[in-house]
Amino acid sequence: MSSTAKSPWLIHYDASSCNGCDIEVLACLTPMYDAERFGVINTGNPKHADLFLVTGSVNERNIAVVRQIYEQMIEPKVVIACGICACSGGIFKECYNTLGGVDVAIPVDVYAPGCAVRPEAIIDAVVEGLGVLEEKRCALAAGKDLGVTLEACVTAADKVVDGRTVRAEALQATEGEPDHA
Ligand code: SF4
Repeated sequence: MSSTAKSPWLIHYDASSCNGCDIEVLACLTPMYDAERFGVINTGNPKHADLFLVTGSVNERNIAVVRQIYEQMIEPKVVIACGICACSGGIFKECYNTLGGVDVAIPVDVYAPGCAVRPEAIIDAVVEGLGVLEEKRCALAAGKDLGVTLEACVTAADKVVDGRTVRAEALQATEGEPDHA
């Protein structure tokens, strides 16, 4: 195990969470769960982070922010979707302004469902993420291409319109509507 895996730094972003999952992320850092005893450090700088924890669903306003944070992180990096909203859109999935879970924006390595996600599940996901981080580190050291592209996150059924990802369902809902332009 590399030294980074023994002391992973993570960045947490609240996409559009109700703050329930964010409270649980913070709980992991309290003396009760004390994730710092594993060497985990919460940083605000994407360039310093190995793990990207996202809570809440992705919408048209925050998709650019999620991608910008991801792109600023240095490889190898691991993305953890915390809570069912981040995993799939959760209860907001059918909302008119929700695009879906984090994986519509960036590749997700570990899914930690729950509403709200329990601190134990977050710590489990971080430990699982460290395994993925180590695999990616070995692959990069062996000169392999991780083959990750943001374009792959947009499913075949979705389309990018004017730089925005529009879900297939939203496109279907507008089909046949009169053109007011
Ligand atoms: S999964 Fe539940 S607690 Fe977490 S952001 Fe969504 S609604 Fe809130």
